Amino acid sequence: SSPASNGGENCCVKVALHIRPLIADERAQGCKDCVTVVSGKPQVQIGTHAFTFDHVYGSSSTPSSAMFEECIGPLVDGLFQGYNATVLAYGQTGSGKTYTMGTGFKDGCQMGIIPQVMNVLFSKIETLKHQIEFQLHVSFIEILKEEVRDLLDPTTLNKSDTANGHGGKVNLPGKPPIQIRETSNGVITLAGSTEVSVSSFKEMATCLEQGSLSRATGSTNMNNQSSRSHAIFTITLEQMRKLNPVFPGDSNPNDSMNEEYLCAKLHLVDLAGSERAKRTGSDGMRFKEGVHINKGLLALGNVISALGDDKRRKEGVHVPYRDSKLTRLLQDSLGGNSRTVMIACISPADINAEETLNTLKYANRAR
Ligand code: ADP
Ligand code: MG
Repeated sequence: SSPASNGGENCCVKVALHIRPLIADERAQGCKDCVTVVSGKPQVQIGTHAFTFDHVYGSSSTPSSAMFEECIGPLVDGLFQGYNATVLAYGQTGSGKTYTMGTGFKDGCQMGIIPQVMNVLFSKIETLKHQIEFQLHVSFIEILKEEVRDLLDPTTLNKSDTANGHGGKVNLPGKPPIQIRETSNGVITLAGSTEVSVSSFKEMATCLEQGSLSRATGSTNMNNQSSRSHAIFTITLEQMRKLNPVFPGDSNPNDSMNEEYLCAKLHLVDLAGSERAKRTGSDGMRFKEGVHINKGLLALGNVISALGDDKRRKEGVHVPYRDSKLTRLLQDSLGGNSRTVMIACISPADINAEETLNTLKYANRAR
């Protein structure tokens, strides 16, 4: 069964701004903090520009518990009610996307959004497991140059590869590419990607860690761990609950009419760096990757702004999901009954002011 309403919420996309502190490297260069949070308001100022978001989280050193409670917790609750959801970390390379998301999880090292989601998920399951049967699956893929790569592929995991020059893993030759498909009832599936069944925090953390290790990274002038790919960690929660019979003596306990099945997924997306290709000063090939990355981010911006525009939405405006692999993959978890939070990540440093302004404009358009 699928839920009919979104709990009365009108706007399906919330935008939160996360400003990381100045890091050692920026301090060493003598950078100044150029972003001001307006006190008492979810608003920031940079130069003469002011931007208002649903939430603004200042320079705390870890993804704050306030951010989790206000932005992410409700999505995890929604998962138990059958609502799909998407969390997107957007921003230039070095702005704190991976840190905030917790995609680069190493056991015990940091507590970004994904490990916190896992904590809440498993403790909720623990309290409900006597009434409800749960099944959890995870997949972890990345989209690089408009191609989907399986980060949990058991045939390539733990096999180091040096041929591609950056320690990433390659899919074996002959392995069919992963395809994004849509079922007749609008469910998006990934044909050919690994779905791991997990039953504990530890098992899920292992998937996160292994997938992170497989993620392709390449060096650019800006940051030698620059991520040019979108990394998508997806948690699928299936629930089977026994419904109480209306007349207790009346029912057959094996009757499937007395069971309710719910399935929902949460996509946790560490987007590719939003900086422009030209700024990375790269060669022709890298620039092409940049163009592809921009294709996903561009399509995402268009989809989210179409969804956020209530008037256009009611007129049944075309939402351009098919313009990129990223938006196609997220199609059943962006808009409709699903909930979306975009976390725009920025550096406070004056040297990044131009890209920070671009991020603020993009995120502002998403509201
Ligand atoms: P991105 O994924 O956007 O490229 P990272 O998450 O790798 O950026 O962060 C870039 C650098 O900033 C890293 O050294 C990271 O440890 C640091 N950093 C990011 N966010 C924070 C934060 N909230 N507090 C302290 N350091 C942070
Ligand atoms: Mg990163």
